[in-house]
Amino acid sequence: MEKKRREAIEVICPKCNRTEIVYVPIEEIPKCSDCKTQMVIREILTEGKRD
Ligand SMILES: [Zn+2]
Repeated sequence: MEKKRREAIEVICPKCNRTEIVYVPIEEIPKCSDCKTQMVIREILTEGKRD
């Protein structure tokens, strides 16, 4: 049974506002697949940790 805590991070393209969810550990924040701009972290979402 998998019970690893996984953190999800939402990244956003500052140019076209395209968002993507990546999971830690992150090796590299992806580039936008539309415009190839380096995406930035928008929000850290932690799964299974709802208040
Ligand atoms: Zn973009």
